[in-house]
Amino acid sequence: MIACSCDVCTKGTKKDHRLRSSVHIEQNGFHLNIDAGPDFRYQLLRENIKKLDAILITHCHKDHIAGLDDVRSFNYIYKKAMDIYALPRDIEAIQREFSYAFSDVRYRGVPEFNTIPIGHKKFFAGNMEILPLPALHMKMEVLGFRIGDFSYLTDTNYIPGETLERMTGSRVIVLNALRKTPHPSHFCLDEAVKVLKFLHPEQAYITHISHLMGFHDEVEKELPDFIHLAYDGLKIEI
Ligand SMILES: [Zn+2]
Ligand SMILES: [Zn+2]
Repeated sequence: MIACSCDVCTKGTKKDHRLRSSVHIEQNGFHLNIDAGPDFRYQLLRENIKKLDAILITHCHKDHIAGLDDVRSFNYIYKKAMDIYALPRDIEAIQREFSYAFSDVRYRGVPEFNTIPIGHKKFFAGNMEILPLPALHMKMEVLGFRIGDFSYLTDTNYIPGETLERMTGSRVIVLNALRKTPHPSHFCLDEAVKVLKFLHPEQAYITHISHLMGFHDEVEKELPDFIHLAYDGLKIEI
């Protein structure tokens, strides 16, 4: 965290130093990102990602959409607008945040977005079948996504029964937990562990972790075998 001098921020190892939450998924040559926060550009450069076909948006908070301007590189190289799948509310927010990309008179080089509204129903991005996982971020609706045996859900502190059913049978689940102490709009670690024990996938990863969680290596030891703290650059194959 900027200006923080806690032990995690000053003495932590690589796994303690995190950029904003996001995931990149590749299936049969189709590349998709979930969210594009302020670190989107650096994350794609760091991971040497050369292709991106679509972006799914969980919700319109800045830490999940602020990096969208940088799709312009893909627009330039692939000569097409970037498909952005989001709730209608979040499309409106993107249109406000990046108004210059939607105005009638556009400067050359502004990002090109092809916004596609989604709801709770299953949809396809390319050949990828995606099942939305609606949940609550305090009072705000957010969407997680299930793609095959992989479920990703962040920025929530309440998952309705119907969404738990949609997640059931996932082999890998990524779920958010901010810290050990309770928080009004994010799961704390115990709450996330409880949900994960209920769903019991083969592997689970905690994301959207703050410096207040403590050291990665220490917290990792306290968790059940199938639950891990995610870290920047983590790669998994399903
Ligand atoms: Zn700190
Ligand atoms: Zn967030």
